[in-house]
Amino acid sequence: MPTLPTNGSVLPITRWGEDVMHRLNKPVTEFGEDLHKLVADMVATMNAAEGVGLAANQVGVDLQLFVFDCPDKDGVQHQGVVCNPVVELPEGKDRRLDEGEEGCLSLPGAFTKCVRPDWARVTGVDENGEPVTYEGTGLFARCLQHETDHTQGTVFGDRLSRKYRKRLYAEAEELALDYPSDWPVSPMLHPEDHQEEEGLNA
Ligand SMILES: [Zn+2]
Repeated sequence: MPTLPTNGSVLPITRWGEDVMHRLNKPVTEFGEDLHKLVADMVATMNAAEGVGLAANQVGVDLQLFVFDCPDKDGVQHQGVVCNPVVELPEGKDRRLDEGEEGCLSLPGAFTKCVRPDWARVTGVDENGEPVTYEGTGLFARCLQHETDHTQGTVFGDRLSRKYRKRLYAEAEELALDYPSDWPVSPMLHPEDHQEEEGLNA
């Protein structure tokens, strides 16, 4: 398993509504020092926000790239970096849906049920341009789908019914004041008011 870098700096997280969150991002074509620094900063930012995954557009960068550090259904932790991800989902009789809770660091604090297949496989390349494949169950399957969606300009609100989306926005609005605009560079206010959520936070 690759080890994620630990020498990055925490960056502010970009929110839903910013253009870079809602359009197809550019493929990664250069795998040099700049990319390695971006990956390190994304890992630092994901950790500061207590997330299990983070895409490049969530720190304002228009590139198809995400990092993750996420447990699967059996509690096994998976870590990695994927550039230019392509997701594969089960079809036909292998397709089972999971109704888990989902939240997004770019709409911080709000969670709702989001129906997704209970398994996913993602292929792409790592930060050195080497091919990688990750597949998994549970929260990790959800994470792989959520992050690949980000690289395509899709947020999980786009996958909800109108009713659930409205409820999600209402919850987020209520909590928004507790997140400074440069969060997680500046910490969340009143952390005691925020319960630890069971669902995906990515
Ligand atoms: Zn997200």
